[in-house]
This record gives sequence, structure tokens and C-alpha cells, in this order.
Amino acid sequence: MDTLTCMGCGAEIQTKDPEAAGYAPASALERETVICKRCFRLKHYNEVQDVNYDDDDFLEMLHQISDTDSLIVQLVDIFDFNGSLIPGMNRLTGNNPVLLVGNKTDVLPKSVNHNKLEKWLRREAKQAGLNVEDVYLISAAKNEGIDRLAESIESNRKGKDVYVVGTTNVGKSTFINALIDRSAGVKNAITTSYFPGTTLGFIDIPLDDSSSLFDTPGVIQRHQLAHYVSDEDLKLITPQKEIKPKTYQLNEGQTLFFGGLARMDFVKGNHSSFVCYLSNRIPLHRTKLEKADELAETKIGEMLTPPDEKTLDKMPEWERQTLKIPEGKHDVVISGLGWVMIPEGDVTIHIHAPKKVKISIRESLI
Ligand code: GDP
Repeated sequence: MDTLTCMGCGAEIQTKDPEAAGYAPASALERETVICKRCFRLKHYNEVQDVNYDDDDFLEMLHQISDTDSLIVQLVDIFDFNGSLIPGMNRLTGNNPVLLVGNKTDVLPKSVNHNKLEKWLRREAKQAGLNVEDVYLISAAKNEGIDRLAESIESNRKGKDVYVVGTTNVGKSTFINALIDRSAGVKNAITTSYFPGTTLGFIDIPLDDSSSLFDTPGVIQRHQLAHYVSDEDLKLITPQKEIKPKTYQLNEGQTLFFGGLARMDFVKGNHSSFVCYLSNRIPLHRTKLEKADELAETKIGEMLTPPDEKTLDKMPEWERQTLKIPEGKHDVVISGLGWVMIPEGDVTIHIHAPKKVKISIRESLI
């Protein structure tokens, strides 16, 4: 029998294991276009089923790219740059040239200068050891920057195949849909969703008679908060619109809760501003440090939300990290949740966040 692939996600169709990727009931195979049960439920009920696909399988699939002669387009989420970088990317791409694309620029405040942002992206890529031909900024959802990038892909690929890679949730499907819409006028050609891991298997989109653009599986990063929250909470923490930063003037001994998903204690330093860049739908709560432990114990999931009940069930325990912020304008990034900009720096803070979620300090993005 020829292998069949799902029209929605590209996974190989199988009829044996309902828990695994690409499952479709045997009766579905008789239809002209086959779609797996998971994509079927996503499309008709907006409901997502988890698939048992382990991380090694994803990496193995990406490894195949290093053997090709192609152009790589790597997408990162500008809102979660560190969280969405693929570790060891150069090993995965072999000697192929890479275009680095920062997606979701629409969530940043309009005042952000794009030249500065591009420079920032270039610098961060270099620091992460990524060797890139060029960087681009786009908003796949708002169709911004797509024309310029599409032209660059066309001239850089020199007739070769193109592989689009990225971690789950960076907007890869949205981006490829925008590309297809641009060239063929077809909307939503690939299933898109809020949910990590929707894209399974390589999807082959012909570019001309001899080359294709491949949508690759999203790499799962365990330090992305997205994996520890419910589908409902993921909608709340993923910014959909321009972020309205919230500024707090704090003294030593004060604490800020980010919903009930993380908290920042100001433990040492002079009176300072803390500018919070998070999804507008996460409520912030300021309190005294001496009351914070009790609040964390009794109010998370009640007064302090998100998390909802489902998130509480799967969220790892919190861990406390001490961060000494150097002088100057810095961001403290809680991967997947957002960041806090500290204009003068020179403070010591504690961040409490679910274990495994990456916390980092960087030179300020804005
Ligand atoms: P994939 O897992 O990388 O294929 O990501 P998707 O295309 O499914 O997108 C993941 C989430 O990010 C969805 O909630 C999208 O609506 C959202 N998204 C994708 N592109 C953009 C963008 O340019 N701006 C914003 N604000 N959201 C985006």
C-alpha cells in the first residue's frame, strides 16, 4: 500500500494505534482526502489530542536535513527568543545556509524600532553560536514582512529545496500558510492552532517542478512554559495583540505575582522601576515580600490565576532562583511568559517559577 499522509499535519496515516501520530479509523481511508483523527477533532471541535511522539524522534527527523543540499529558514518567536532557539541548530542543518526569522513582531509595542530589533536579533543569534546568512522580522499573523522574506528565500535558495524549522508554537504553520496564500491564494492550507506539537511529519509544498518547501515537525523544548499549562491557559499567556507594558515602582521587600504562574521578589537594591512585558491577559498582583509565601501557598489558582485547575495538575513545582542584575538596562526573561525590564539594573531579585522553565538575563530588547 502507498503511504498516506494526513492533509492537515502531514503525519503518516496509520490505523493501529489511536494514541500515536497519524491515527485514522480504517473507514476514513476510503475518503478522497484523508485527515488524521487528531486534525479532524481540531478542525471540527477545536479540540486537541496529545500525541505520543518523543523528543528524540523529532530530533532524528530534523537530522535528516543535515544530509540535504538546501536553504534553511529558522523561525524564532521574538516574544520568547531563548525559549524558541533550537540547541545545536548548526549540527542539525549541516553546511546549509540559514535565514533567521523573528516572528510575532506585532506583539511588541509599536514604539520598538525595527532596525534596533534586527540588530538585537543578529547579536543574540551570534551569542547563541548560530551562523546565519541574514535575519528577518515578520508577523506571520498580520502578514507583515512576508513579501521581503519570500523574495529573499527565492533568491537565496538558488533552485534548491527549503526547510522551515522551529520549535513548537513559534508560528511556523501560520507563516507557511501566509506563504502559500501569497503565492497560490489559498487560505489556511495547513492546520494552525494555539497548541504545541500540531505539526507532525514533513509537509511537502512544491515550489516548482524540481524543488519543494518542507514544513518540519516542531521541536519540543521542555523549558517552554507552554508545555506545562492547559490549552485554555496557553491562550491566555500567548500574546495575541500588542503588549501593553505595565510599570511598577517597587521598593526592596516587595513582590510581584504574574498571575499565579511565577513571582518576582525584590530583595536588594534602591527604589526602582520594573516594566513588565507579558500577555495583557495575565493579571499582576503586588504585595509585601513577607506575605508572598503565604499567598503562594493559599491563593494560586484562586485569587492568582492563571493557572486553572488543569494547569495546576501538570505544572511542575516552583523553584527559586537568585539573580543579580548588573548595572544598566536589562531584561529578566521567564521563557514563554514574558520579561521584566529593569531600567537602571543593579538590583538583586528572586524569581520563583515552575522548575525547568528557563530564566535568563539579557541586555534590554526595548
Ligand atoms: P507552530 O506550532 O510553530 O506551527 O505555530 P502556529 O502557527 O500553530 O502558531 C502558534 C500560536 O502563535 C498560535 O496561537 C498563533 O495564532 C500564534 N501566532 C503565529 N504567528 C503569529 C504572529 O505573527 N503574531 C502573533 N501575535 N501570534 C502568532
